[in-house]
Amino acid sequence: MSRADAPDESTLRVRNPATGELITTLSATTGREVAEAAERARRVFERGTWSGLPPRERASVLLRLADLMERDAETLARLDSEDAGKPISECRTGDVPGAIECIRWFAEAADKVFGRVAPTGPDHLGLISREPVGVVAAILPWNYPLAMTAWKVGPALAAGNCLLLKPAEATPRSALHLAGLAAEAGLPAGVLAVLPGYGAVAGTALARDPVVGALSFTGSTAVGRSVLTDAAQTNFKRVSLEMGGKSPQVLMADALRFGAELIDNMIEAAFLTTGQNCTAGSRVLVHRDIADGVVARFVAAAKSLVIGDPADPETRIGPLISHAARDRVAAAVDEARAAGAHVHTAGLPDSLHPAGAYYPPTVVTDAPDGSTVLTRELFGPVVTFQTFATEAEAISLANATEYGLAASVWTRDLDTAWRLARGIQAGVVSVNSYSEGDITTPFGGWKQSGFGGAEKSTTAFDQWTREKTVWIRTR
Ligand code: NAD
Repeated sequence: MSRADAPDESTLRVRNPATGELITTLSATTGREVAEAAERARRVFERGTWSGLPPRERASVLLRLADLMERDAETLARLDSEDAGKPISECRTGDVPGAIECIRWFAEAADKVFGRVAPTGPDHLGLISREPVGVVAAILPWNYPLAMTAWKVGPALAAGNCLLLKPAEATPRSALHLAGLAAEAGLPAGVLAVLPGYGAVAGTALARDPVVGALSFTGSTAVGRSVLTDAAQTNFKRVSLEMGGKSPQVLMADALRFGAELIDNMIEAAFLTTGQNCTAGSRVLVHRDIADGVVARFVAAAKSLVIGDPADPETRIGPLISHAARDRVAAAVDEARAAGAHVHTAGLPDSLHPAGAYYPPTVVTDAPDGSTVLTRELFGPVVTFQTFATEAEAISLANATEYGLAASVWTRDLDTAWRLARGIQAGVVSVNSYSEGDITTPFGGWKQSGFGGAEKSTTAFDQWTREKTVWIRTR
C-alpha cells in the first residue's frame, strides 16, 4: 500500500492525505544506492567507531538523541500527522513520547546485554556472548512512521549495528529528521542511513542485499512473504516480520460491569489512527446476553467521534492514507451490506476537504460468515460485531483468522480471563483493557502476523544480535 505518487522511479512525492497537497519531492533511493549504502555501512562497522565502542558510550549518544527528539517533539508530531494523516493529538500524546521512551529504554539497555558461561567440566570454559550482526536493515510501514523507526533504531544501534532504514513511500520525513538528530547527538557518520524509496526498488534491494545480515520488516503480510522469499533466495539474512492483524475484542457476559470505561477502551482499540492500526480491535465478539446494549452504546460513541482535519487537536478520525485504501474499505462494507449485514454509520461532515480520503467510523453487524469484513484486515475505521454463547465458542471465533497479533478480553472473572488468554492464539492478549503492553513487554505476532522475533523489551535484541560460543581448553 503506498500513497506517494510514482511519476517515475527516481522521485518520491509526499502528499498530505487530508488535502492532497504536495508536501515535498524527494529523490528515491535506487537499487545501486542501496548497495553503496550497505558497502559504506560495512566499512563503518568494521572500523569499529560505533560497534567497537563500550556499550555505555553508545548509550550516551542514544540518550542525547532522545533529548533532541524531546526538543523537536512538536516538529516530529507535525511531520507524521501531515504525511500519514494521523490526528495530531495521537502523534503528540502517543507516537512521539513513545518513540522517545523507546530510544531511552534501549540506550539504558545497551550495557545490559549479558552473555552466559556454559556449565562445562573443569577442563573447558564455554563463553557464550552476544554480538551485533553487523550491517542490518529495517523496512517500515506508513501508519506509525516515527514509532516504528524508534522500535528499530533503538535496539539495532544499542547493540552496535549499522542500520539501513527504509521508511514507507508516503511517510519518509520523520525518519529523515531523526537521522539528522542522531548526527547532532554524535552518532558517527554511516551508522544510520535513512533511504527513502519505493518498496519494489529500495525495499527489494535491501531484502536481496548480500551485505545485509538481518532485516526487520513491518508491513503487510503479502510484502512480508516477498521479503522472506528474497532473503531465502539470496544470502539467508535473518528476517523478522511484523505484519497485519484482525484482532478480536472479546466481551464476556459480565463485561458491562466496566461501565463507560469499556466502551471508551473499545472505541480507542477500534479507531486509533483511524483504524489503520496493525493491532486494531476490528472484530468485537460479544456474549449474546449483552450484545444489543453494547452495540447500541458502541454505535452511539462511534458516531460522536470528531471527523476532521488531522491538524486540529480535536480530531479523532482523519483521512485514510489514500483514495485506493478508502475505496477498498468501502467495497468490503458494501459487499457485506449487499449480503444482508446491517451497517451503522454517522456519515461524513460537509466541512471536510474534498480531496481527503475520508471514511466514517462504521459498525457492521450480522455480516455473513466468510465475508471480507470478517476475514480480511481492512485497515480502516470499520468494526464488526459477532455474538457467542459459550466460552469455547468465543475462543473458536477469536482464532478463526489467519492472523494472531493481538486480542483483548473483558471479564471480572479471573479464571475465565486466564482460560481465554491461554486459548487465544495471539502475541499479546490484554485483559480488561486494550493494550500492546509497554516498552518492557515483547510485541510480536503469531500465525501470519509475525515471524522471526519480537519488538520491544530485551527480546528485541534477539533480532539484532547473534550468539557466539568461545570454547576454551583450560589445560
Ligand atoms: P506494505 O507492506 O505495503 O509496505 C511496508 C513497507 O514495505 C513499505 O516501506 C514499502 O515500501 C515496503 N515494500 C513494499 N513492497 C516491497 C517489496 N517487494 N520488497 C521490500 N519492501 C517492500 O505495508 P503498509 O501499507 O506500509 O503498512 C500497513 C501494513 O503494516 C498493515 O498490514 C499493518 O497491519 C502492518 N503493520 C504491522 C505492524 C506490526 O507491528 N505488526 C505495525 C504497523 C503496521
